[in-house]
Amino acid sequence: MARYTDAVCKMCRREGEKLFLKGAKCSSGKCPIDSRNFPPGQHGKSRRSRPSDYGSQLREKQKCKRIYGLLEKQFRTYFEKAHHEKGVTGEVLLQKLESRFDNVIYRMGFAASRAAARQLITHKHFTINGKVVNIPSYLLGKGDTINVREASKKMEVIHLGLKKAKQKSVYSWLDVDKANLAGTFLDNPSREEIPVNVNENLIVELYSK
Ligand code: SF4
Repeated sequence: MARYTDAVCKMCRREGEKLFLKGAKCSSGKCPIDSRNFPPGQHGKSRRSRPSDYGSQLREKQKCKRIYGLLEKQFRTYFEKAHHEKGVTGEVLLQKLESRFDNVIYRMGFAASRAAARQLITHKHFTINGKVVNIPSYLLGKGDTINVREASKKMEVIHLGLKKAKQKSVYSWLDVDKANLAGTFLDNPSREEIPVNVNENLIVELYSK
């Protein structure tokens, strides 16, 4: 799968806010947003002027794409699918992104970031409904159960993720059984339950031009 390979902290600096792409570093004093909150590059400090309508729509789309770790084509495909489904397009788009396997593993606390979740998934450390799934983009549905495989239950990286997740909020649409390293995707979250600072309406406006 194609993926973004440049320095990820640059993406947060470009958007001017924390996108939480690097796990533990994001909550430590080493986060560049705390010390250098201006766009990267030679003219970064002088570049943050008031954006046009198109500029705001573009930035919102870029931010959302970066939060979920997707490339343009993948993101556009989610939008097209959301656009053809019943419901409010922006909300359906976010629900689809939230139901991705890598996002759910991250939200459940089995990984410190979505990138770390993707790596664990491709290395076959989880099952969905008893079957090994190594596709990070797999979309979970109501009632799907996730388990850490028996052979992976002692992995330090998973336990570290869970330890850190203790301080994070619990999501109402997920049920996590930390003792047994398992979880259930209860239902699609409503917009109010999705904790991402994105104005999805601007993304819809951008793609509807
Ligand atoms: Fe973004 Fe995390 Fe890097 Fe901070 S440490 S800039 S939040 S990826």
